[in-house]
Amino acid sequence: MISKNVNTIAPQQYVTNDSLHQLFDAVNVVSVQGYDENRRVIYWNIGSELLYGFTQQEARGKKLEDLIIPAAMRDSVVAAHNDWINKDIKIPTAEIILSHKNGNDINVLSSHVMFTNQYNKKQMYCIDVNLADVKYAQSQALFKDHMLKTIIDAIPDLFFLMEVDGTIIDYRASEQKKLYVSPAHFIGQRMTDVLPSEVVKKFETHLAKIQQQEEMITFEYELNMPYGLAYFEARMSYLAKYNQIVTIIRDISEQYKSAEIIRNQAYFDTLTLLPNRFLSLDRLSQMLIEAERNNEQIAVLFLDLDDFKKVNDSLGHEMGDKILIKSAKRLNNVVRKEDTVGRLGGDEFIVLLRGITCHHDATIIAENLLQAFREPFNIDSRELILTLSIGVVVYPENGCTSSDLLRNADTAMYEAKSLGRNTYSFFTKEMNIVMLRRFEIEEQMHGALERNEFELYYQPQLDVKSGNVIGVEALLRWHNSVLGNIAPVEFIPIAEHTGLIVPIGRFVIKQALSFLNVWQKQDHKTYTMAVNISPRQFRDVELLTFIKNCLDEEVINASSLEIEITEGVLMSGQSYIHDALIEVEKLGIKLSMDDFGTGYSSLSYLREYAFDVLKIDRSFIQGITINKADCQLVKTIIVMAHSLGMTVVAEGVETQSQLALLAELDCDLVQGYYFSRPKPAEQLLDFSAHFKPKT
Ligand code: C2E
Ligand code: MG
Ligand code: MG
Repeated sequence: MISKNVNTIAPQQYVTNDSLHQLFDAVNVVSVQGYDENRRVIYWNIGSELLYGFTQQEARGKKLEDLIIPAAMRDSVVAAHNDWINKDIKIPTAEIILSHKNGNDINVLSSHVMFTNQYNKKQMYCIDVNLADVKYAQSQALFKDHMLKTIIDAIPDLFFLMEVDGTIIDYRASEQKKLYVSPAHFIGQRMTDVLPSEVVKKFETHLAKIQQQEEMITFEYELNMPYGLAYFEARMSYLAKYNQIVTIIRDISEQYKSAEIIRNQAYFDTLTLLPNRFLSLDRLSQMLIEAERNNEQIAVLFLDLDDFKKVNDSLGHEMGDKILIKSAKRLNNVVRKEDTVGRLGGDEFIVLLRGITCHHDATIIAENLLQAFREPFNIDSRELILTLSIGVVVYPENGCTSSDLLRNADTAMYEAKSLGRNTYSFFTKEMNIVMLRRFEIEEQMHGALERNEFELYYQPQLDVKSGNVIGVEALLRWHNSVLGNIAPVEFIPIAEHTGLIVPIGRFVIKQALSFLNVWQKQDHKTYTMAVNISPRQFRDVELLTFIKNCLDEEVINASSLEIEITEGVLMSGQSYIHDALIEVEKLGIKLSMDDFGTGYSSLSYLREYAFDVLKIDRSFIQGITINKADCQLVKTIIVMAHSLGMTVVAEGVETQSQLALLAELDCDLVQGYYFSRPKPAEQLLDFSAHFKPKT
């Protein structure tokens, strides 16, 4: 049967089994399709089977437009093919979407060739490459690009892609204002041509370094931006494969500033903004190194505000702080820019003067510093006068290390204080002797209690009217095998300083009450025992329990014990002292204000606590018979004390005329060498046993 079907191919007129087709047969990654002049499939390789899903048998004889061309494209494909056959208009290579047997879209790059075979028939070949992978890769790349852009937009860092010579190829910046110059000025330029020379140096060093190593390099630099000085951190990585460098730059100004605040807190005093102790001493050490190299002299001035503690305690810490701030300003105004004024702590300051030629240079500054404090401070509508005491040392004369110089300057400052304050004093070797003695005493004091070196002496107190002994004051004595006898005025402050006053003070209380027991039994009388207590002893929370136990042990009435404190105890304003004094009163122990007249003599203290006794300081008693003013003062104190219900004791009575005058002024009790020096226990018992009132 002869078929009339127009789709029937006349195979003999189409060549599909030559060596070219054999080559196509072997290819499965590319689809090769052959068509006759009517676009019927004459060739279909394995690649086509794989790509479009039609087998050779299925495809063969079918028309192109019925096989893999989507409906919408059919007319144009047929027209294009006819144009090629009839008008020789070539179908160009194009990316098109064709159809799979199952109806899915197939993305291909389609190229076409047409040739005329030996039978003068035209054969068209389509060579289709599947673009699915390429498209997928492209969409992935697009996605990644998009993601990268989103990330870069979200973070404030700047990104630069550079050649190894620093030429900027590309950049990303979410915040354009962070760019030092506009992109037009740096793209294609070398980074080193764009940035200031100090920054360029850093970049050049790191550009050279990064190519030698695999790890990232980090470095910091600062730039003067239109919005102010900014600090940046650069992280550089070398992309060896591409021979390019990625630099990521982060603005670390905020971090830098907070780090600087922390640094400042570590080096500067937060109240006065002056260099603190650490920085001051560090500067001194630096200055010493330079001074040694250049053969120069340095002066170190150790400054202490006179009576600052009293101001602080009486007017409050807020006022104290204001004074310190104003003082710091005054000090800074006196010295040159290259000198240092630092705060060592509390009311202590230091001034470092470099390059002085002689003592006189330091003298001038010291005098100017004192002068700067002549003007009163105006604070909160108050006028306050505060003075300075200054100790001066000179390098290398007075020491070569900062600690030596500081210690000696401190010693010289103490000398200035003892000279009456508001003055300066240069360090001398003799002052060191004083300090050495202090150290020796401190050394010997450790273990002195255990070695039984302390002894209590007792000084009688007498009633002015009757002339009878009514009690004693316990006064401590120290006999040391190395240093001999040391006076309380010398060792008590050291004991207070070291804290040894606490065990020593307990020894005094125990000893004194045990003596009182013996003494009262001997004379069958009730005497009083006055014991001196230092401020430091009140920090011993067990003090009052200890006292109470001693009273109980010795069977002594609490009212026979008198605790003598000086105003210094009250000045500190510590709450534990307040609590202890209230407890003293509760226990029924008497409270005595010692050395009245030498401190602030603040009446408010006398009112605040239940003082039973007021002791007028020896320095006033000494003068009463010769100095009218002293006499007036003593008279007033007595009247005032009586009006507050206190008993008055005059300390340091040495003469009959002093006694007579005190009797006239209505003083209650007296104590002094006129009657008896402080005596050891045995001698006091003896003195008491044979005592006859002076007439
Ligand atoms: P204070 O409590 O004011 O004691 C009076 C000081 O004046 C004693 O000095 C005493 O010996 C001395 N004195 C008494 N009468 C006369 C006199 O007529 N003329 C002269 N020139 N001096 C006289 P002392 O014993 O050297 O004690 C000095 C200071 O040491 C005491 O002053 C007291 O503040 C302190 N102190 C003494 N013993 C102790 C103690 O056991 N504990 C504490 N915390 N301090 C003590
Ligand atoms: Mg006393
Ligand atoms: Mg006294």
